[in-house]
Amino acid sequence: MVNNPKKMLSFEVFPPNTEVGTSKLFKTLDELKELSPDFISVTCSNNNRTDIGHTTIRVADYVNNTLNIPAVAHLSAAYLDKNQVKEILEQLKTKGIHQILALRGDITTLPTKNDFHFASDLVRFIRAYDETFEILGACYPDIHPESQNRVTDFHYLKEKVDSGCDKLITQLFFDNNTFYDFQERCAIAGIEVPILAGIMPIVNRNQAIRLLKTCNTPLPKKFVRILEKYEHNPLALKDAGIAFAIDQIIDLTTEDVDGIHLYTMNNAETAKSIHHATSSLFYQELS
Ligand code: FAD
Repeated sequence: MVNNPKKMLSFEVFPPNTEVGTSKLFKTLDELKELSPDFISVTCSNNNRTDIGHTTIRVADYVNNTLNIPAVAHLSAAYLDKNQVKEILEQLKTKGIHQILALRGDITTLPTKNDFHFASDLVRFIRAYDETFEILGACYPDIHPESQNRVTDFHYLKEKVDSGCDKLITQLFFDNNTFYDFQERCAIAGIEVPILAGIMPIVNRNQAIRLLKTCNTPLPKKFVRILEKYEHNPLALKDAGIAFAIDQIIDLTTEDVDGIHLYTMNNAETAKSIHHATSSLFYQELS
């Protein structure tokens, strides 16, 4: 029997705002390296705008060049102009970082720049600037909160992929059937790039409340019951949240998902628990 690597496993981390937080994150990343992910992606803040070099790129550099794990730098461009994006692309090239998650970013009350109205504008721009970049895009099984309906959401997702995306990563979701519907609709629409399923383990009540406010992602009844039952028992809530994520991953890998993207929330312990319970599922046995 031979174990043949098949499904991708990636982690997502976010850069903290302080030096102490960054040192702590580097230790977390050292622990995540032991789990041999295919890549680690590093988020960018929409508020930091041009400060990405001191935040996202610094962490991605550590992942790529100290840990030797491929890093994916997130880049949200609604508040950047073409020259600023060029500068960032050059910084990434200097550090040997060749994978970018191209995003529009959330629109706030501040006026946006006029160069990148949507992520597909950024994808096209990066593709034309240097075709050696691998470009990833975001997608939304529960549809993007601004989209009027699934039809327009899919129309623009297809446009984004056709602009040059090599892979997609989904927004987190809790109902795997939503993902399977989404996968099927992608196939019908002719979207053929790999789709990594975004899984976020909910390990405390505040995280769940925050998510419900910011994402368009409904919590299934089973999870609402868990939150109600273990509201005042943080340890039980954490155990149940991790078990829920493991259950999702077992089902997704059984159904031949292209890969799992784990939103780690910078928590190595949770990622390790999930990895411990599921790592063999990422390999296909060949007899
Ligand atoms: P787009 O693909 O541009 O879509 C945004 C909306 O515009 C959608 O409703 C879409 O249907 C619509 N649309 C697209 N093209 C057109 C068009 N031509 N005409 C009209 N409508 C159109 N945010 C951050 O700030 N930092 C991060 O690091 C970050 N990482 C993320 C990682 C993942 C995996 C995901 C799923 C999201 C992430 N986000 C991040 C959140 C993301 O920035 C927001 O969801 C944002 O609102 C949309 O970004 P997008 O790139 O998906 O936008």
